[in-house]
Amino acid sequence: MSDKVLIVEDEPKLASLLADYLRQAGFEPTILDHGDTVVEQVRKSPPDALLLDLMLPGKDGLTICRELREFSTVPILIVTARIEEVDRLLGLELGADDYICKPFSPREVVSRVKAVLRRARMTETAATGGVVLDEGRLEMQLDNKAVALTTVEFQLLRQLVSAPGRIFSRDQLMGGMYQDHRVVSDRTIDSHIKKLRRKLAETWPQYEFIHSVYGAGYRFEFDPASTAGNDSAAGQ
Ligand code: CA
Repeated sequence: MSDKVLIVEDEPKLASLLADYLRQAGFEPTILDHGDTVVEQVRKSPPDALLLDLMLPGKDGLTICRELREFSTVPILIVTARIEEVDRLLGLELGADDYICKPFSPREVVSRVKAVLRRARMTETAATGGVVLDEGRLEMQLDNKAVALTTVEFQLLRQLVSAPGRIFSRDQLMGGMYQDHRVVSDRTIDSHIKKLRRKLAETWPQYEFIHSVYGAGYRFEFDPASTAGNDSAAGQ
């Protein structure tokens, strides 16, 4: 399956040029030309990477970036027309992964997209210690064993696994659910997590995957090398 790249760009010619190059490189591009629809689109159909123009009709790129980071770890490449802006942007700690200045060559954009995806994948594989989430089967797989999950459990786990070590608040976890599950309250987040942990512990009693962070939320942390046969929880 090819990686989905969401292009947020209000200049139609530039957007379709980028889409052509990305398609030729094996990606599946989608274009949005208005800032107001981006956050909703990412929530409904999360892309593998996002190219985000700063100057947009409706919500601007900076606001979009900030809002996305409340629930998503999708790699974001910010596109800006002025190189002088980059220092300022970097100082804003928006959680963007890279910056590209206009004018740029579409070829360069393609190679930057590949680079952020590569980095994102490396982090993911290294930090999840071989855990596989199979969305088609609603399963978590590890060491030739699998556990069946409910849709809600799968979505919770997928969010946590998307950024190993990062603490997710209950609000963030709720925000990352598909629309039809947003009725879930923060109390039920706790009970879903509890059930999820019990399932995982039944299948892999030697490991701990989901850690509670007092007063803050939950995080996924799994390192088979340090948890196997070791009762002391590695505090980090
Ligand atoms: Ca623009």
